[in-house]
Amino acid sequence: MEGLTSVVLSLGSNIENRVLHLERACEQLAQNVGRCTKISRIYETPPFGFEAETNFLNLCLVLETNLTADQLLETLQAIESNLGRIRSDSGYISRTIDIDIIFFGDQIIKSDKLTIPHPFFRTRKFVLAPLIDLGNDLIDPVTHLTIAQIFENCIDKSPITVCKKLIPRPQLFNTLHI
Ligand code: AMP
Repeated sequence: MEGLTSVVLSLGSNIENRVLHLERACEQLAQNVGRCTKISRIYETPPFGFEAETNFLNLCLVLETNLTADQLLETLQAIESNLGRIRSDSGYISRTIDIDIIFFGDQIIKSDKLTIPHPFFRTRKFVLAPLIDLGNDLIDPVTHLTIAQIFENCIDKSPITVCKKLIPRPQLFNTLHI
């Protein structure tokens, strides 16, 4: 549809109730960002870059939005705050919800606040695995590689598993009207 941008987001939670945090985030994204057209399976992954007792649950989704990239970032940060995200100045810590912008259409953006495509997505399997679920039409506008090609070359060897039992897809799909 004219005026809408297709955005790809990565969500993660490692504070219980992790599934509930992902569900609430998806609901608020559908209400405040735009219609969800695709959603990945949920993956369980170890914390990346810091130690924590609880693993992350991660997913990726595609939304159609009329927001600008800066408006989108502000909206995501408001949703993170609503869901109890606490920020730390001293590196990575556990979080109820983290929402990152991976792609904003096929735009390449570098500003004080934003780097899009997300600067680290190519080296993190917890982003790449759910991205593959979104289909093979996603191309990195910087490297022009498919997600599958980036995944194959990724040096991150973290164990990642699909959470078959935890997948709340029917509920999410109802909520998001997919
Ligand atoms: P985070 O700790 O992942 O919530 O991100 C912290 C900061 O990263 C935010 O305040 C953003 O300004 C910045 N940032 C840069 N690029 C991105 C991106 N592609 N998606 C989300 N945040 C970003």
